[in-house]
Amino acid sequence: MLEVERLSKSYPTPSGPIRVLDEVSLRVADGERLAVMGPSGSGKSTLLSILGTLEPPTSGIVRLDGIDPFAGPADARASFRNRSIGFVFQEHHLLAGCTALDNVLLPAVATGRPSPVTVDRARLLLERVGLAARSPHLPGQLSGGARQRVAVARALLLAPRLLLADEPTGQLDSHGAAAVTDLLVELGAEVGGMLIVVTHADAVAERIGRVRRLVDGRLQ
Ligand code: ADP
Ligand code: MG
Repeated sequence: MLEVERLSKSYPTPSGPIRVLDEVSLRVADGERLAVMGPSGSGKSTLLSILGTLEPPTSGIVRLDGIDPFAGPADARASFRNRSIGFVFQEHHLLAGCTALDNVLLPAVATGRPSPVTVDRARLLLERVGLAARSPHLPGQLSGGARQRVAVARALLLAPRLLLADEPTGQLDSHGAAAVTDLLVELGAEVGGMLIVVTHADAVAERIGRVRRLVDGRLQ
Protein backbone atom coordinates (compact mmCIF):
# COMPACT_ATOMS: atom_id res chain seq x y z
CA MET A 1 0.00 0.00 0.00
CA LEU A 2 1.02 3.60 -0.68
CA GLU A 3 0.28 6.06 2.10
CA VAL A 4 0.81 9.79 1.70
CA GLU A 5 0.22 12.05 4.67
CA ARG A 6 0.10 15.84 4.57
CA LEU A 7 2.75 16.09 1.92
CA SER A 8 3.94 19.61 1.16
CA LYS A 9 6.60 20.91 -1.17
CA SER A 10 7.99 24.42 -1.41
CA TYR A 11 10.65 25.82 -3.69
CA PRO A 12 12.74 28.85 -2.79
CA THR A 13 12.42 31.81 -5.16
CA PRO A 14 13.93 35.32 -4.97
CA SER A 15 10.58 36.63 -3.74
CA GLY A 16 10.25 33.94 -1.07
CA PRO A 17 9.27 30.27 -1.11
CA ILE A 18 6.43 29.11 -3.35
CA ARG A 19 4.31 26.23 -2.12
CA VAL A 20 3.71 23.76 -4.93
CA LEU A 21 2.06 20.98 -2.88
CA ASP A 22 -0.11 21.81 0.08
CA GLU A 23 -0.80 19.00 2.56
CA VAL A 24 -1.65 16.31 0.05
CA SER A 25 -2.90 13.07 1.59
CA LEU A 26 -3.89 9.94 -0.28
CA ARG A 27 -3.90 6.17 -0.12
CA VAL A 28 -3.60 3.62 -2.86
CA ALA A 29 -3.95 -0.04 -1.94
CA ASP A 30 -2.44 -3.05 -3.68
CA GLY A 31 -3.89 -3.55 -7.12
CA GLU A 32 -5.57 -0.12 -7.08
CA ARG A 33 -5.29 2.54 -9.78
CA LEU A 34 -5.54 6.30 -9.55
CA ALA A 35 -5.68 9.02 -12.21
CA VAL A 36 -4.52 12.49 -11.18
CA MET A 37 -5.85 15.36 -13.27
CA GLY A 38 -5.45 19.10 -12.92
CA PRO A 39 -4.37 22.27 -14.70
CA SER A 40 -0.83 22.82 -15.85
CA GLY A 41 1.35 24.00 -12.99
CA SER A 42 -0.89 22.50 -10.31
CA GLY A 43 1.91 20.28 -8.97
CA LYS A 44 1.16 16.93 -10.64
CA SER A 45 4.73 16.24 -11.79
CA THR A 46 6.11 17.40 -8.47
CA LEU A 47 3.80 14.97 -6.67
CA LEU A 48 4.86 12.10 -8.91
CA SER A 49 8.56 12.84 -8.50
CA ILE A 50 8.18 12.78 -4.70
CA LEU A 51 6.15 9.55 -4.79
CA GLY A 52 8.87 8.19 -7.08
CA THR A 53 11.48 9.21 -4.46
CA LEU A 54 13.30 11.37 -7.02
CA GLU A 55 12.79 14.42 -4.85
CA PRO A 56 12.22 14.82 -1.09
CA PRO A 57 9.12 16.55 0.27
CA THR A 58 9.46 19.71 2.37
CA SER A 59 7.20 18.11 4.96
CA GLY A 60 4.84 15.18 5.30
CA ILE A 61 5.31 11.47 4.92
CA VAL A 62 5.37 8.94 2.10
CA ARG A 63 5.23 5.24 2.95
CA LEU A 64 5.41 2.44 0.42
CA ASP A 65 4.59 -0.92 2.00
CA GLY A 66 5.35 0.67 5.34
CA ILE A 67 8.75 2.00 4.29
CA ASP A 68 9.58 5.72 4.36
CA PRO A 69 12.08 6.02 1.51
CA PHE A 70 13.26 9.43 2.69
CA ALA A 71 14.25 8.17 6.13
CA GLY A 72 17.46 6.49 4.96
CA PRO A 73 20.54 7.55 2.97
CA ALA A 74 20.40 8.51 -0.72
CA ASP A 75 22.07 5.33 -2.02
CA ALA A 76 19.53 3.16 -0.19
CA ARG A 77 16.80 5.31 -1.73
CA ALA A 78 18.22 4.78 -5.22
CA SER A 79 18.19 1.01 -4.87
CA PHE A 80 14.71 1.09 -3.30
CA ARG A 81 13.53 3.15 -6.30
CA ASN A 82 15.10 0.76 -8.80
CA ARG A 83 13.50 -2.25 -7.14
CA SER A 84 10.10 -0.87 -6.21
CA ILE A 85 9.12 1.89 -8.62
CA GLY A 86 8.54 1.98 -12.37
CA PHE A 87 8.29 5.22 -14.35
CA VAL A 88 6.73 6.17 -17.65
CA PHE A 89 7.14 9.80 -18.69
CA GLN A 90 5.61 11.90 -21.46
CA GLU A 91 8.91 11.67 -23.30
CA HIS A 92 9.88 8.03 -23.67
CA HIS A 93 13.50 8.61 -22.46
CA LEU A 94 14.75 5.56 -24.33
CA LEU A 95 18.47 5.38 -25.05
CA ALA A 96 18.85 6.16 -28.76
CA GLY A 97 21.86 3.87 -29.23
CA CYS A 98 20.26 0.81 -27.59
CA THR A 99 17.84 -1.67 -29.16
CA ALA A 100 14.28 -1.98 -27.92
CA LEU A 101 15.28 -5.12 -26.00
CA ASP A 102 18.27 -3.45 -24.34
CA ASN A 103 16.10 -0.47 -23.39
CA VAL A 104 13.61 -2.78 -21.69
CA LEU A 105 16.54 -4.39 -19.83
CA LEU A 106 17.90 -1.08 -18.50
CA PRO A 107 16.42 -1.33 -14.98
CA ALA A 108 18.19 -4.68 -14.56
CA VAL A 109 21.52 -3.41 -15.91
CA ALA A 110 21.72 -1.00 -12.96
CA THR A 111 22.46 -3.95 -10.67
CA GLY A 112 24.77 -5.92 -12.95
CA ARG A 113 24.38 -8.20 -15.92
CA PRO A 114 20.75 -9.26 -16.47
CA SER A 115 20.11 -12.95 -15.75
CA PRO A 116 18.69 -15.21 -18.48
CA VAL A 117 15.36 -15.15 -16.60
CA THR A 118 15.31 -11.37 -16.78
CA VAL A 119 16.16 -11.40 -20.49
CA ASP A 120 13.27 -13.83 -21.02
CA ARG A 121 10.95 -11.51 -19.12
CA ALA A 122 12.08 -8.55 -21.26
CA ARG A 123 11.31 -10.54 -24.42
CA LEU A 124 7.94 -11.57 -23.04
CA LEU A 125 7.09 -7.96 -22.18
CA LEU A 126 8.05 -6.82 -25.69
CA GLU A 127 5.77 -9.50 -27.06
CA ARG A 128 2.96 -8.37 -24.74
CA VAL A 129 3.26 -4.77 -25.95
CA GLY A 130 3.10 -6.03 -29.53
CA LEU A 131 6.74 -5.44 -30.39
CA ALA A 132 8.35 -8.89 -30.39
CA ALA A 133 9.56 -8.41 -33.97
CA ARG A 134 10.98 -4.98 -33.08
CA SER A 135 13.30 -6.10 -30.30
CA PRO A 136 16.51 -5.52 -32.34
CA HIS A 137 15.31 -2.10 -33.56
CA LEU A 138 16.58 1.25 -32.31
CA PRO A 139 14.10 3.81 -30.91
CA GLY A 140 14.60 5.97 -34.00
CA GLN A 141 13.17 3.16 -36.12
CA LEU A 142 9.95 2.99 -34.06
CA SER A 143 6.79 5.11 -34.12
CA GLY A 144 5.98 7.36 -31.17
CA GLY A 145 3.36 4.92 -29.93
CA ALA A 146 5.75 1.97 -30.22
CA ARG A 147 8.48 3.86 -28.33
CA GLN A 148 6.04 4.55 -25.53
CA ARG A 149 5.08 0.86 -25.44
CA VAL A 150 8.77 0.01 -25.05
CA ALA A 151 8.86 2.49 -22.15
CA VAL A 152 5.90 0.68 -20.55
CA ALA A 153 7.68 -2.67 -20.92
CA ARG A 154 10.84 -1.18 -19.38
CA ALA A 155 8.90 0.24 -16.42
CA LEU A 156 7.43 -3.22 -15.72
CA LEU A 157 10.61 -5.27 -16.08
CA LEU A 158 11.32 -5.59 -12.37
CA ALA A 159 7.61 -5.93 -11.44
CA PRO A 160 7.49 -2.64 -9.49
CA ARG A 161 5.22 -2.22 -6.49
CA LEU A 162 4.36 1.28 -7.69
CA LEU A 163 4.01 2.23 -11.34
CA LEU A 164 4.00 5.98 -12.01
CA ALA A 165 3.10 7.52 -15.36
CA ASP A 166 3.32 11.28 -15.99
CA GLU A 167 1.19 12.19 -19.00
CA PRO A 168 2.25 8.97 -20.73
CA THR A 169 -0.09 9.58 -23.67
CA GLY A 170 0.49 13.32 -24.00
CA GLN A 171 2.17 12.98 -27.39
CA LEU A 172 0.03 10.18 -28.84
CA ASP A 173 -3.15 10.20 -30.92
CA SER A 174 -6.29 8.75 -29.35
CA HIS A 175 -5.64 5.28 -30.73
CA GLY A 176 -2.05 5.21 -29.42
CA ALA A 177 -3.20 6.69 -26.11
CA ALA A 178 -5.80 3.95 -25.65
CA ALA A 179 -3.23 1.24 -26.44
CA VAL A 180 -0.69 2.57 -23.94
CA THR A 181 -3.35 3.05 -21.25
CA ASP A 182 -4.67 -0.49 -21.74
CA LEU A 183 -1.14 -1.85 -21.38
CA LEU A 184 -0.50 0.12 -18.20
CA VAL A 185 -3.74 -1.23 -16.73
CA GLU A 186 -3.43 -4.83 -17.92
CA LEU A 187 0.28 -5.42 -17.37
CA GLY A 188 0.16 -3.39 -14.17
CA ALA A 189 -2.63 -5.66 -12.88
CA GLU A 190 -0.53 -8.74 -13.61
CA VAL A 191 2.29 -7.34 -11.50
CA GLY A 192 -0.29 -6.65 -8.79
CA GLY A 193 1.11 -3.34 -7.57
CA MET A 194 -0.31 0.18 -7.62
CA LEU A 195 -0.69 2.45 -10.65
CA ILE A 196 -0.86 6.25 -10.64
CA VAL A 197 -1.32 8.06 -13.95
CA VAL A 198 -1.22 11.83 -14.43
CA THR A 199 -3.28 12.78 -17.46
CA HIS A 200 -5.20 15.54 -19.20
CA ALA A 201 -7.23 13.09 -21.24
CA ASP A 202 -10.72 12.20 -20.05
CA ALA A 203 -10.61 8.89 -21.93
CA VAL A 204 -7.42 7.88 -20.11
CA ALA A 205 -8.82 8.90 -16.71
CA GLU A 206 -12.01 6.95 -17.40
CA ARG A 207 -10.03 3.83 -18.22
CA ILE A 208 -8.05 4.17 -15.00
CA GLY A 209 -11.29 4.47 -13.04
CA ARG A 210 -10.65 6.45 -9.89
CA VAL A 211 -9.84 10.12 -10.45
CA ARG A 212 -8.59 12.88 -8.14
CA ARG A 213 -7.95 16.47 -9.11
CA LEU A 214 -5.00 18.55 -8.06
CA VAL A 215 -5.66 22.29 -8.04
CA ASP A 216 -3.04 24.77 -6.82
CA GLY A 217 -1.20 22.02 -4.99
CA ARG A 218 -4.28 20.77 -3.15
CA LEU A 219 -5.88 17.42 -3.80
CA GLN A 220 -9.65 17.87 -4.19
P1 ADP B 1 2.28 20.19 -13.37
O1 ADP B 1 3.00 18.88 -13.61
O2 ADP B 1 0.94 20.02 -12.71
O3 ADP B 1 2.17 21.00 -14.61
P2 ADP B 1 4.64 20.87 -11.81
O4 ADP B 1 4.64 19.94 -10.66
O5 ADP B 1 5.56 20.60 -12.93
O6 ADP B 1 3.13 21.05 -12.34
O7 ADP B 1 4.95 22.34 -11.29
C1 ADP B 1 4.17 22.96 -10.27
C2 ADP B 1 4.75 24.33 -9.95
O8 ADP B 1 6.01 24.15 -9.33
C3 ADP B 1 4.98 25.20 -11.17
O9 ADP B 1 4.60 26.52 -10.84
C4 ADP B 1 6.45 25.10 -11.38
O10 ADP B 1 6.94 26.26 -11.98
C5 ADP B 1 6.99 24.93 -9.98
N1 ADP B 1 8.26 24.18 -9.94
C6 ADP B 1 8.43 22.89 -10.32
N2 ADP B 1 9.70 22.49 -10.12
C7 ADP B 1 10.37 23.57 -9.61
C8 ADP B 1 11.71 23.82 -9.18
N3 ADP B 1 12.65 22.88 -9.24
N4 ADP B 1 12.01 25.07 -8.70
C9 ADP B 1 11.05 26.02 -8.61
N5 ADP B 1 9.77 25.85 -8.99
C10 ADP B 1 9.43 24.65 -9.48
MG1 MG C 1 3.72 17.98 -15.33
